[in-house]
Amino acid sequence: MDHLILAVDCTGYPSHWLTWQDAVTHDVLGKIAYGFGEHEFTCRGGHSRVTGRDSLITLKSILVLRGRSPAFWGRHSIPLTNSALFRRDQYMCAYCGKVTPRGLTRDHIIPLSRGGSDHWLNVCACCRICNLAKGSQTLEELGWELLYLPYAPNHQEGLILENRRTLSDQMELLQTLLPKHSRILQAA
Ligand SMILES: [Zn+2]
Repeated sequence: MDHLILAVDCTGYPSHWLTWQDAVTHDVLGKIAYGFGEHEFTCRGGHSRVTGRDSLITLKSILVLRGRSPAFWGRHSIPLTNSALFRRDQYMCAYCGKVTPRGLTRDHIIPLSRGGSDHWLNVCACCRICNLAKGSQTLEELGWELLYLPYAPNHQEGLILENRRTLSDQMELLQTLLPKHSRILQAA
């Protein structure tokens, strides 16, 4: 099973992704309050000596876990990966506007060599041609402007960016919690 299961804490906030193995462990430990969503996954559980059969566990695509999960909710910054960055920026070069799913690079708006940081607010998707032309120059030096502003994704956006195979019911829940400026809605 390739899909991930969305864990929601008891306050209703999606907190993290679970593999089905994690979800089965949570189920066995009695940590799942209930599940919902349109999709169901059936996994093979332990072998029963009484019936001689493997037990089957059916899990929903969204699981509400008992208790709050402050370790996940709002505490972690979203890992900056190229794949998450390009999805945030809808595969569009921030300088020329070319949209391409391939050949994009991570550009540091203030170059690292000029004191810029490797952080969501200082990076954007950039095509190879613009990246080569920009080199280690700043936008002021080049007279360039950004076509869109970089931003740090919030926790819910991070969950969408992290999982390329988010299911429709999981996406529906996550989208209700996105900030208005999010570009993920169009990208999703
Ligand atoms: Zn470009």
